[in-house]
Amino acid sequence: MPRLFLFDIDSTLLHTSAGALALGRAFKAVFGLDDALAGEGFHGRTDRLIIKDALQRHGLLTARYEELLPRLKVAYLLLLRQTLREDVQARVLPGVEALLAALRAAPDTHLGLATGNFRDAAFMKLQHLGLADYFVEGGFADDAEGRPGIVRAAIVRLEERLGASLPREAIYMVGDTLADVEAARACGVVAVAVATGPHTLEALRAAGAAHAFATLSDALHVV
Ligand SMILES: [Mg+2]
Repeated sequence: MPRLFLFDIDSTLLHTSAGALALGRAFKAVFGLDDALAGEGFHGRTDRLIIKDALQRHGLLTARYEELLPRLKVAYLLLLRQTLREDVQARVLPGVEALLAALRAAPDTHLGLATGNFRDAAFMKLQHLGLADYFVEGGFADDAEGRPGIVRAAIVRLEERLGASLPREAIYMVGDTLADVEAARACGVVAVAVATGPHTLEALRAAGAAHAFATLSDALHVV
């Protein structure tokens, strides 16, 4: 039976602080706001929700939001390229490359993304750390504000590419936050959690992860 593995990016495949830094700089560039994102939690949230909440907190969530979002996004993407180069601590997480290589080599196994990043930002981060070649398609912050919508968009696109619809138990959503686990469950797919983000193994299991690993090195043995 064909299998599809959907991956979250931040704190699942890689660590970088470049995204938060670039988004903060984009708020400064577009709105002249300093520290617009101070106190904003990034983990498990989508770029669109982070932006919307920050605009709301600064009283800028007006009818112009839909017009401002593309401007902010363009500024963010330009700045992200630069902040990624500055982030000397950006790194691929343990076991990720071995796992992706093993999955790519496995018969009838397909890879995709389901991430709160905008599509261009997702590929920029992956490219920066040499992981972009593993992925061609997925669901992104461009598709929906919330994660379940992003996972759904990923499934639709990947099934279209495969030319087949997959049973939900053959689709695995791999992520590091409770939001990833909840989105997987909302979409009826298998939730695979990795504790390289803000949550413990216990918390991820309690949220309903079918499989939970300390790092993706541990997942390799199972796959
Ligand atoms: Mg994440």
